[in-house]
Amino acid sequence: MEELEPIQVTAYVPSSAPVPESEVIVERGSTPQQLGPKLNRSAGDVVRFLLLQGEMVTATQALTDDMIELFAAEIGARVRLVDPGEEQEAALRARYFGEAGGDKDEDEGSLRPRPPVITVMGHVDHGKTQLLDRIRSANVVAGEAGGITQHIGAYQTEWEGHLLTFIDTPGHEAFTAMRARGASITDIVILVVAADDGVMPQTVEAINHARAAGAPIVVALNKIDRDDADPNRVMQQLSEHGLVPEEWGGDTITVQISALQGLGIEDLLEQIVVLAEVLELRANPEADARGVVLEANLDVGRGPVATVIVQHGTLRVGDPIVAGPSWGRVKAMINDRGDQVKEAAPSTPVQVLGLSEPPIAGDELRVTDDLSIARNVGEAREQRLRYASFAQSQAASSGAPGARLEDLFQQISRGETASLNIVLKADVQGSLEAVTESLRKLEREEVKIAFVHRAVGGISESDVDLAAASGATIIGFNVRPDRRARELADQRSVEIRTYEIIYKLIEDIQAAMVGMLAPEFEEIVTGDAEVREVFRVPRVGAIAGCYVQNGVITRGSKVRFLRDGAVIWKGAVSSLRRFKDDVREVQAGFECGIGLTDFQDLHQGDVIETYEEREIPRT
Ligand code: GDP
Repeated sequence: MEELEPIQVTAYVPSSAPVPESEVIVERGSTPQQLGPKLNRSAGDVVRFLLLQGEMVTATQALTDDMIELFAAEIGARVRLVDPGEEQEAALRARYFGEAGGDKDEDEGSLRPRPPVITVMGHVDHGKTQLLDRIRSANVVAGEAGGITQHIGAYQTEWEGHLLTFIDTPGHEAFTAMRARGASITDIVILVVAADDGVMPQTVEAINHARAAGAPIVVALNKIDRDDADPNRVMQQLSEHGLVPEEWGGDTITVQISALQGLGIEDLLEQIVVLAEVLELRANPEADARGVVLEANLDVGRGPVATVIVQHGTLRVGDPIVAGPSWGRVKAMINDRGDQVKEAAPSTPVQVLGLSEPPIAGDELRVTDDLSIARNVGEAREQRLRYASFAQSQAASSGAPGARLEDLFQQISRGETASLNIVLKADVQGSLEAVTESLRKLEREEVKIAFVHRAVGGISESDVDLAAASGATIIGFNVRPDRRARELADQRSVEIRTYEIIYKLIEDIQAAMVGMLAPEFEEIVTGDAEVREVFRVPRVGAIAGCYVQNGVITRGSKVRFLRDGAVIWKGAVSSLRRFKDDVREVQAGFECGIGLTDFQDLHQGDVIETYEEREIPRT
């Protein structure tokens, strides 16, 4: 083989031009070609200098922060490192949205009353969904003929001439996700507490969320139709949490209702209208629109679709908009009745079509003066996000590359320090902490465990994205991936392992560490059915009236029983019926009755997931 001539490196002779006197802003990840000229040097100067430091880089290769700073120090320049896009975005924001990103025209005189935006929270099964459905259907009967209501994540209802906006995703997750991203759209929280059950853990959680967000709470004491309802006891409990009912001399509006029978609903709405007036909720309908993204997805036919609640100004078809990194022009808007609308006033929820990609829940949506601004801002953010996720995956795998469970032992036996990157999801905070603790105890000199992300909740697409970006394995404890997350994990070869017993989980990880992973059983989900109704059959017990959503449900097959994405029971399908007949299987799209081995705690909305176990041959 021909011997390569060694590169001749003599002393580093800097170009003689003076370096800039003031601080120079340099984007992280700049190449010598970008860095050199900013500091009055050539790309070659940078490359040569780094070579002397033992760093072989090409003129078009991204430099680390250290390299950039080293070079700057060498020639006596001052640099400030910024994330790509950060500078540009800040400048654009200041230029177009004012320094604080505030509004140009928010003077008192132009403010008009706007409808309140209401979120329903409370413990599971206390009747949030029932209440939301009740309010919504009351309106449909009263109003708009023929309108098919559409679930877009929020709806508006009219009561005695007052418009009210309800966020249609009960529970705390959406609320927390929004707040985590700094968005607050909720003006009033309705806290649903079942009068037969009282204050429960999620009730307390809801109270804390609402308080933290500074949203006033209206208590709806639900299920007062039940014989065992005890409103006084519940009010006592609520008082202990600082929610003293008005009738007891406190200032918490408390209304007794039955969402099931429609009792007290009018009273509740009336109280909300009164409270909204007291709160003096106002916005300027003439201003450039601003709003918050509630949810977004990619629709096969329509492209990116985002549900937005307009907070300020009026959003119109044709407006140039930017939301997070996503930008575009409002192509069409669809309201909660499925009608196309030309404009959306403050507090109105609408689906917006025309964005370049689906934004994320909690992103702020803004109208810009023209499309190129929307595009510039969007693209600057995109670049920055991309950089951030790159940096994150670098960080997660720094030191040692992340390993999949199966490869872990190979790395260890090669004498390398292996790092097991984990995205951990669990059903409740307690188990999350317990699993974390147990995993941390397994850490050894040669195996580090890095938690890329830990959270309570089901395994979602964004978990899979994160795991893919950081070479992590997803571990679910008592939670499952939804179908979309599962598909994405397949596509991106992300390993998801789910457990219901802590010691099994620990055993697996331990086994991986000594290269003795037991035969792995792949669980193939064969079907899932949603519980629509529950029947009590004498001597048999509870039967779930179900609708098969995906795949096929087979008698005898293994079952995971899911409530809000969490596994609450495992067993098997003991009986399967179509109408009066016992059948062997039921395909997607059909209804059926499902009986489960010794499990009775069935509720509407629960999901019965069936699966098979297949052994995966080890390589
Ligand atoms: P969520 O989990 O808070 O959304 O609760 P749901 O709205 O799904 O209600 C849970 C269960 O309570 C369902 O079976 C409802 O039919 C039932 N339920 C809701 N509201 C009432 C009510 O006012 N009275 C009675 N008796 N049952 C109710």
